[in-house]
Amino acid sequence: MKKHNFYAGPSILSQQTIKNTADAILNFADTGLSVLEVSHRSKEFQAVMDEATALVKELLEIPEGYSVLFLGGGASMQFCMVPYNLMAKKAAYLETGTWASNAIKEARLFGEVDVVASSREANFSYIPKDYTIPTDADYFHFTTNNTIYGTEMRYDPESPVRLVADMSSDIFSRPIDVSKYDVIYAGAQKNLAPAGVTIVIVRDEALGHVDRPIPTMLDYRTHVKKGSMFNTPPVLPIFSALQTLRYYKELGGIRAIEQMDLRKAGALYEAIDASRMFQGTVTDPADRSIMNVCFVMTPEYKELEKDFIDFASARGIVGIKGHRSVGGFRASLYNALPMESVEVLIKAMKDFEASK
Ligand SMILES: *Cc1c(COP(=O)(O)O)cnc(C)c1O
Repeated sequence: MKKHNFYAGPSILSQQTIKNTADAILNFADTGLSVLEVSHRSKEFQAVMDEATALVKELLEIPEGYSVLFLGGGASMQFCMVPYNLMAKKAAYLETGTWASNAIKEARLFGEVDVVASSREANFSYIPKDYTIPTDADYFHFTTNNTIYGTEMRYDPESPVRLVADMSSDIFSRPIDVSKYDVIYAGAQKNLAPAGVTIVIVRDEALGHVDRPIPTMLDYRTHVKKGSMFNTPPVLPIFSALQTLRYYKELGGIRAIEQMDLRKAGALYEAIDASRMFQGTVTDPADRSIMNVCFVMTPEYKELEKDFIDFASARGIVGIKGHRSVGGFRASLYNALPMESVEVLIKAMKDFEASK
């Protein structure tokens, strides 16, 4: 049976990414060797790294003065690398979910953290809007898409201080004005590649302003200087990332992808809003994520949630169980998910509702 993959991460990759990765595991760039067994310093792998870096710059229209890094350690490693490299005394954070809270927790190890606003009291079901970023902060950190709660800031906020964003689950889903940011980071396993690599986009000028000693591996300057090759980089996820980046370019770039993403999310939210059985968990439609759509059953039908999961899996729908901190359902509609899968889910919701 054809599967419809709504997992939140690791998550669906383009067929092209998976096929090309499988091929390169058998024979990489006509070397007669697997990509798993060649030196990261071979000319064939250096070409992969160079093209992947260039495509990230091209697709996101990154201006001069920025470096693109491919690092290990996951997005969670960036929770400490950001303050290590950027916080002299104080930083401002917006708390919009679990990942933001985890970033705040790490930042507190390095200095004063001003949490400018939080939606914790409402289980992160909205994005706080009324807050002031202190002008004496070294930077302002926010999470563009809250993967667990299905809220998203689909804009580049104004900030009087350096701007840092965790874009793990929505990078490459909308054009961004990179010039407003000093650091952007994203774990690859949601919109790009298998787990194991994190993209970091850093403004070169933002580095070198803190006095503390920084361990070599946690110092962005190490990786800027060595082109992400200071030590062995996560070779396989970087190879896969390149396949996805090429695919994104073939699709017509980020603006074309955004239109597809808007259509997919629009159709699903419309079905949720039109239903008597399902309801969205995000209160303000302006805050709704187009990557992770969170919904539950209305109180009247609450006990049928488990039945719906079974009903949907019988149609090949996988990964729609909501995160335990929200419950209900979460349909992740990453770039590689086809519209057809969204239609199959909507049909399942309608048929299930009609059967009750
Ligand atoms: C998944 C996720 C993370 C954590 O990523 P890891 O690579 O597992 O450390 C951080 N932030 C956001 C927004 C995420 O969705």
